[in-house]
Amino acid sequence: MNNKPTIAVIGAGLGGAAAGALLQKAGYPTKVYEQAPAFARLGAGIHLGPNVMKVMRRIGIEEKLNAMGSHPDYWFSRNGMTGEYQSRIPLGEFARENYGAAYITVHRGDLHELMVSTLDQDNLYFDKRLVDVDDSGGKVVMTFADGSTEEADLVIGADGVNSRLREKLLGPEAPIYSGWVAHRAIISAEKLKAYDLDFEACVKWWSEDRHMMVYFVTGDEKEYYYVTGVPEPDWDHGTSFVDSSREEMRKAFEGYHPTVQALIDCTETVTKWPLLERNPLPLWHENRLVLLGDACHPMKPHMAQGAAMAIEDAAMLVRCLEEVGAEHYQQAFELYRTNRFERASRVQQVSHDNTWLREDEDPAWVFAYDPFEVPLKQPTSQ
Ligand code: FAD
Repeated sequence: MNNKPTIAVIGAGLGGAAAGALLQKAGYPTKVYEQAPAFARLGAGIHLGPNVMKVMRRIGIEEKLNAMGSHPDYWFSRNGMTGEYQSRIPLGEFARENYGAAYITVHRGDLHELMVSTLDQDNLYFDKRLVDVDDSGGKVVMTFADGSTEEADLVIGADGVNSRLREKLLGPEAPIYSGWVAHRAIISAEKLKAYDLDFEACVKWWSEDRHMMVYFVTGDEKEYYYVTGVPEPDWDHGTSFVDSSREEMRKAFEGYHPTVQALIDCTETVTKWPLLERNPLPLWHENRLVLLGDACHPMKPHMAQGAAMAIEDAAMLVRCLEEVGAEHYQQAFELYRTNRFERASRVQQVSHDNTWLREDEDPAWVFAYDPFEVPLKQPTSQ
């Protein structure tokens, strides 16, 4: 008989899907509850570094991702105006040899669909928005917006930047608007053929206060993608994104290199997202509740490591439950926090500063990390 505790994961984003898949693989009876009625293929890309791909190997989808994604040989940083190279960070074969897995860029929707497909579909519930939890008894009782209640021994809050579970642990507090927005657009590579310009597989165009990161999101290089960081003092739209326009992009990137102008000219639709952060949280877990990903350390996306941290968290959490024995869940949660806090906080800070790979530097501390193999630090006794 399976005497492992029952676990509820709140949120089937990239962190929640990773947690659900790894827990189910390790034999935990796990149910995943997602507020959205379904997921759509929104126009966005994502980098998956070797640190994430090693977790994908454990989930069993590394090869599918390798086939799906673009494999840049370098991350280039270039001066937005002159095009001069500021850094050339080797990826490709170098990453496979030195960091233990590939560095790929993919369409976020394709990645998400693949990750969600690894979950036990009978234990995945859409249209289930958690509104309350009662953690005062032998089981956690969860109440959902549709009025239904469910129970679980342990509850993982993978419910993103506006986490209800974080609010339960620490009280209501809106995330901090960073003062920067990100524009996101996918461009048909076919259109770019009209230009006598080189569209590199992974390049970040920089100037003093803004940037544009550009890469392919499919292995066949048919879809090219840009995501920006542009200062905008206020965000009062009240939604998670709004439509932007070619005109707005032209203004924001006036004077930038002809390659960037070509991307703007080829833009059909572009959206604009507020970049939200929180300071490192004083509490990641309490009794039977624990947080991961953006629920506990949302960050500006300028290292392309936000989802990576959520996925690493999921892997470390499962490792700690296995290591300590899930009946000692409070010790397991503290071991998890001890082994994730410093790294996640450091990545939050570098993302905030937007200095990552701007000049040549050694990225091994991020890419070579393997949450299943890194030696565990023990919590200091209270
Ligand atoms: P989310 O992905 O936000 O998932 C949370 C899930 O919980 C959602 O599905 C939500 O619907 C659900 N939910 C919320 N509340 C409830 C509730 N009450 N009940 C039930 N379900 C609920 N990261 C990278 O690693 N690489 C990149 O290249 C990258 N690029 C980015 C570009 C931009 C412009 C932005 C904004 C972010 C980027 N990130 C990137 C960061 C990344 O998107 C986030 O860090 C990541 O999505 C966090 O994953 P998560 O699972 O913690 O949260």
